[in-house]
Amino acid sequence: MASLASLLREVRACRVCDAHLPLGPRPVLRAKATARLLIIGQAPGTKVHETGIPWNDRSGDRLREWLQLDRATFYDETRIAIVPMGFCYPGVDANGGDLPPRRECASLWHARIMALLPRIELTLLVGSYAQVHYLRERRLESMTDTVRAWRDYAPAHLPLPHPSWRNTAWLRRNPWFESDLLPDLRQRVHDLL
Ligand code: SF4
Repeated sequence: MASLASLLREVRACRVCDAHLPLGPRPVLRAKATARLLIIGQAPGTKVHETGIPWNDRSGDRLREWLQLDRATFYDETRIAIVPMGFCYPGVDANGGDLPPRRECASLWHARIMALLPRIELTLLVGSYAQVHYLRERRLESMTDTVRAWRDYAPAHLPLPHPSWRNTAWLRRNPWFESDLLPDLRQRVHDLL
């Protein structure tokens, strides 16, 4: 079996979706075999693509606020692995909305990467793409229902909405997220780290 370092080198050389990526391949992910927390999001935006640093944008700021983690801890890959559903920026649709993560990515790489992360105890499934892939039939009808049932996926998984600023209205409509879920999330993450 390849080491995680050599597998990540292989991933970073991947050009499978080259023809479909408006800015070309630039896989953005990070992981060390010692990591205990795994964050699975969607796909890089343009700022993440430019810098090569995952969650290096306003969504990342909000995610760190949810977790109450500073940047140094959040980016300590010996403790936190960050592996999105699609590793490269997928572009936008005709209305300017984000395209979904490239489907090739998870099927090609995820199982091989997860096999080399044996110490992961908690996986945050951020957004519906990660929830569809990892919860499968255990996922409820809507993303809101799935997140609201977060306790049912413990201890291995915890579903979250995407922390995009576009979801601010969702957060306002679902006050249980801040009052009940976030304290539980913070406790579990801080116990783990
Ligand atoms: S999105 Fe994934 S599969 Fe596609 S080129 Fe990037 S790393 Fe390869």
